[in-house]
Amino acid sequence: MRAFDTLLDHIHSLWILDTHEHLPTEAQRPADTDVLAEWLIHYASDDLRSAGLSAEGLAEARDSKKDLIQRWRLVAPHWHAAESTGYLRALALSARELYGIERINEKTIGDLNERFCAARRQGGWYDFVLKTKSKIALAIRSPYWAPEADCPDPFVFTFLVDPFIIPTHHLAMAAKGQEVGVRVHTLEDWKEVTRRCIQRDLHPRSRIVCMKCGLAYQRSLRFDKVSEDQAQRDFTEFFRDGNMGDWRPAIKAPKAFSDHMQHFICKVADEMGLVYQFHTGIHAGNGNFIYDSNPALLSNLFLEYTNVKFDLFHISYPYVGELSTLAKIFPNVFIDMCWGHIISPELSRRALVEWLDAVPANKISAFGGDYCFVDGVYGHQLLARQNVAAALAQKVEDGSFDLARAQEIATWLFVDNPRRLFALDRFLKPGKKGSGPRRSKRA
Ligand SMILES: [Zn+2]
Repeated sequence: MRAFDTLLDHIHSLWILDTHEHLPTEAQRPADTDVLAEWLIHYASDDLRSAGLSAEGLAEARDSKKDLIQRWRLVAPHWHAAESTGYLRALALSARELYGIERINEKTIGDLNERFCAARRQGGWYDFVLKTKSKIALAIRSPYWAPEADCPDPFVFTFLVDPFIIPTHHLAMAAKGQEVGVRVHTLEDWKEVTRRCIQRDLHPRSRIVCMKCGLAYQRSLRFDKVSEDQAQRDFTEFFRDGNMGDWRPAIKAPKAFSDHMQHFICKVADEMGLVYQFHTGIHAGNGNFIYDSNPALLSNLFLEYTNVKFDLFHISYPYVGELSTLAKIFPNVFIDMCWGHIISPELSRRALVEWLDAVPANKISAFGGDYCFVDGVYGHQLLARQNVAAALAQKVEDGSFDLARAQEIATWLFVDNPRRLFALDRFLKPGKKGSGPRRSKRA
């Protein structure tokens, strides 16, 4: 048996941990959705737009009230153009393995949609996709909404810091303050609100297991050290006459203020020894400033807050070399391959081959689906398992290490590294040795 096949068999036996998802719960899925409306929420739609589909065309293709075949005809030439990208290959795998559709085209889109809608109505689909098919023991969800106290799906959560670093209105700050019994009039008040919210949500018994910063979508990841005075001056911007009252639009938080808040949050995280996930590299959508999200811009935070564990997302695509350097030299920097295997399957494999030469193997997490719809997760985890098997097989074949070491690393990447980094043991049951981990308590 070739090293690749042995490794893939081993990896397929693992119940894996998923470091990053945006999935709504099954109950939150809209009832009137269909396969194009849901599958074009993101990613594949970015590549269709890149291939030439207009914004209006995409909006129409997403409209489940309109005729499916007409909508398919709108996207078909762009789908064909982009069919070889990781985003569309992930969906092709999901269509085949979840719905039994060999190839997505005008002849099959109707069948695919019927099967999609039937599964949607039937319920239990999350269980089928995430557990039966994808063998995901547990996923860390980045909520766009507050985490439910009792969540039926296999999720734990991350605490989004963005509203504390770039609040958009004095009333938004007042509402947050009310949650923790603080009235917000000064920078000091706002920092107290931030500290109380973090301490309320990130305690040892919480299902919230880390913090996350998504600010690379809106600003540079370079956070300067800014004095209290400067930040307080910036803070008063929220209370200028022109910005006050509920009829005023949202404002952009001034830079000195948001720099200062980032450092304050890192200070609290440092005191508490928290894990902090950072968006780095490529942005979803169809236009942004890639140089703002170079992970090397975070170096001053890595140096100052040595008790925070920084989990850097998305293979920092395309900055995989910078990420390698950072994870190699900083004990508190970790590589997270979430989203990576569908951005570029090839670069994910190549980067992993390089990282395994440069970075200790206990610092890399192999998989996070990063999807807003459940079907995409299946195709993504399949690509991730294949990519890791291919990268490790290459290392075995070039003599870097033997097959036993490769299998050990595979288990670390998919299971043990995220389990340790995010302290997930308390959510997992011990499993049989060799057959991968540990089912979620709720599994
Ligand atoms: Zn994400």
